[in-house]
Formats: sequence, structure tokens, C-alpha cells
Amino acid sequence: MNIDVKPANGMAPMITEPPDIRTVGIIGAGQMGNGIAHVCALAGLPVTIVDIKQDALSKALATMARNMERQVNRSIVSSDQRDEALALVNTSTDYGALSEADFVIEAATEKEDVKRLVFKALIPKLKSSCIVASNTSSISITRLGAATDRPEKFIGMHFMNPVPVMKLVEIIRGIATDEPTFQAVKNLAAKLGKISAVSEDFPAFIVNRILVPMINEAVYALYEGVGSVSAIDTSMKLGANHPMGPLELADFIGLDTCLSIMQVLYEGLSDSKYRPCPLLVKYVEAGWYGRKTGRGFYDYTQTPPRPTR
Ligand code: NAD
Repeated sequence: MNIDVKPANGMAPMITEPPDIRTVGIIGAGQMGNGIAHVCALAGLPVTIVDIKQDALSKALATMARNMERQVNRSIVSSDQRDEALALVNTSTDYGALSEADFVIEAATEKEDVKRLVFKALIPKLKSSCIVASNTSSISITRLGAATDRPEKFIGMHFMNPVPVMKLVEIIRGIATDEPTFQAVKNLAAKLGKISAVSEDFPAFIVNRILVPMINEAVYALYEGVGSVSAIDTSMKLGANHPMGPLELADFIGLDTCLSIMQVLYEGLSDSKYRPCPLLVKYVEAGWYGRKTGRGFYDYTQTPPRPTR
């Protein structure tokens, strides 16, 4: 139960229950979109994923089926749970498919202009009570919320990659986000089996404020010739006990996403210590985004993946 409005005139405070989220819409069928759909469907929530690319939607369904199969093989879920979950997932290339959703989370490409275009097309299709979230890794929730008709029902819900495995969800209120929206999203995170941490609306929030500059520093170490790709990743795995080396992790996140986050930090905090490494910029210019394009700091057409430097 939430006390939504402070009593201004001696009257009893208004009590507002957080809305119950029963149906979910997801914009973007990339690695995050399919992971979010995966955990929502396993929690029994009907999910509709919308992407501009039909092949991204087909790929997301195949990925979800493959990842759930892996969970069945490890006895994490039963085959009945998998079948029921997959039956709850629908896909569309039309935002109109989300007209009945109680909650829509945007997980499209990490570019503010892309997200603004998404909201422009999406918002007129939604019911007025629908909560809208962004899975952005770095962009201001207040600014994105202001690009919608409902900044009070707009919030940051930042899942970690891979979503079915990683326990954390960062929840970020914009300046206008209201308490029932915050509580509803916190309840949703718990329903999905996630632990939430609250971050203030600063560039890149908590996890990426710390993680992505470390990755950028690893790219600088490579750029300046301090070590090779293998030497840098081995050093951080065996010397700092990280489960993945920073360059391997960068490929996993997506180098385009890492660069966008560094640009948001650099511009948002006006501090030269966040300058994106020129080598990271070059890789992205070349279309070498990491695992998702088959090449980044490693070449994924080889088994095992071969360092490219
Ligand atoms: P991705 O490149 O794998 O997928 C993005 C998807 O968005 C693509 O399928 C693309 O077709 C789709 N898309 C682009 N424009 C669209 C539009 N107008 N309408 C509908 N769909 C559209 O990216 P990702 O790694 O899944 O990242 C998505 C979001 O999640 C980003 O905001 C990113 O910062 C965030 N995020 C990423 C990670 C990570 O490790 N990759 C972790 C947490 C959060």
C-alpha cells in the first residue's frame, strides 16, 4: 500500500494501490528483448514482442526455445513449464498489437533518436493506464519519459544480460515517476525472480557507470599495446577473478552498446575520463559489434573464438 499524496489540508492521505501487471509488451527482439520475454513467460505472463524486423522476431523465438531447452536439460524448468511459457509468447511488427498491454518495456537499440521514434509510434496505441519502461543502459529516464504523454507512468527497468541467468534489475525513477508505478515495477521484478536495486537517474546508472569505463580502459590497454586480447582477458580472469575478461564481455554486451554508453557518460558528465577509446569507435565503424555480428575482439566464426589482435 502506498501513500501517494501528502495530506495538504488536514484531510486523510490518498491511498493508491500499485496497478497489477498481467500482460506485457516488449519493443525490440534483440538479445535483451528475447531474454525479458523469456522470464516474463516463465512467470506466467502473456508477452507480445514487437520489432521492425520480422527476422529478429523469428530469431528471438528460436533463441528463447533453445534457452528454455537448456533449462529443461538442467532441470531448472520442466518441459510442461517450457511448453506453457512458449505458448504465452506472441510477436508482431505492429505496435497496435500492444493496445491491451498493462506494461510495455522498450528494449530497442541503444540510441536516443531510435527510442524517441519508438515512443512516438507506440504511445498512441497504448491504453492510458499502461506503464511504459525503458531497458536503456544509460540514457536519462527523465528525458525519455518527457518524450511520452505519461512521464508519471514512465520508469527505467534495466535488466542484465543474459536475462534468464542474471539476478539483478536496476530500477530508475525519472523526476516525474509516481509511486504506484515504482511499486508496480518493483513487484514485477520480484515476480520474475529478480532482486532489484534502485539507482538515481544519472548517466549509465550504477552497474554501467562502473562496468563500462572498465571495459573502455581494457580497450585502451589493447590500443596502447599494453597487452594482447588474450593477455588482457586472461589477466582480468585469473588476476582479478572476473568470470569473463573485459574484451570478451564487451563482445557479449555488443560493442555498439558499449560505445553508446561511453558517449552518454562522456556527454552527460562532461568529464574527459569517459572519452571512448578510438579503437572501440573504429570497431563499431567497421560493423564489428561482437558476438551478435560474428566479430569483435574475437572472431566467432572460429571454434573456439580466435582473438583478432
Ligand atoms: P540488440 O541490438 O540485440 O537488439 C535491438 C533490437 O531493437 C533489434 O532487434 C532491432 O531490430 C530492434 N529495433 C530497432 N529499432 C526498432 C524500432 N523502431 N521498433 C522496434 N524494434 C526496433 O540490442 P540489445 O543488446 O538487446 O539492447 C537493447 C536495449 O537493452 C538497449 O537499450 C541496451 O542498452 C539495453 N541493454 C543491453 C544489454 C546488453 O548487454 N546488450 C544489457 C542491459 C540493457
